Amino acid sequence: MISLMSLPYAQHALEPHLSEKTIQFHYGKHHKGYVDTLNTLILGTPYETQNLEDIIRTSYKKDEKIFNNAAQIWNHDFYWSSLTPHPMLPKGTLLHALQRDFGSLEAFLEAFLALGLSQFGSGWCWLVKDVKGTLSVVKTSNADLPWIHGLTPLLTCDVWEHAYYLDYQNLRKDYMVALRTLFNWEFAEKNLANEIL
Ligand code: MN
Repeated sequence: MISLMSLPYAQHALEPHLSEKTIQFHYGKHHKGYVDTLNTLILGTPYETQNLEDIIRTSYKKDEKIFNNAAQIWNHDFYWSSLTPHPMLPKGTLLHALQRDFGSLEAFLEAFLALGLSQFGSGWCWLVKDVKGTLSVVKTSNADLPWIHGLTPLLTCDVWEHAYYLDYQNLRKDYMVALRTLFNWEFAEKNLANEIL
């Protein structure tokens, strides 16, 4: 049984960048929908007693429906944690790593934006760390996620249309630029110390 995570802030807290209505649908309908569907799918199967990461690992390339719903739950948990209503900037070790691997914070933001805009159809844009500790940006399609490919995620942006359509219609770029104000750099810095799951 997998639970829907509690949002780390109120549903209106990310306004005006993300409206309460967007969160109500994105968290309350889409994210919750993946949780409800997964719990129905795993009922009475060996997946039932596994944690979310193990369900993702076990179902990868074996059970597409279970993988897609489980990975989407993980991705959304990570997405909500990547955002904060309290504006902040990267500092310390993380800022240093961004400057080392992208040249500057601004260069990272531009690379992240360009990659997110280049994702054709639904997917995710990520700041990741490889096994050598080097940062880069990667995109994944649909429910796919970096750690199954050996990369540690630090921060993500959901580029499925449901993430921005109510607030920005087809303007993914405006949504991604607005999200810069909401990035939780403390969460990213915490993830910098993580090894791959
Ligand atoms: Mn989403």
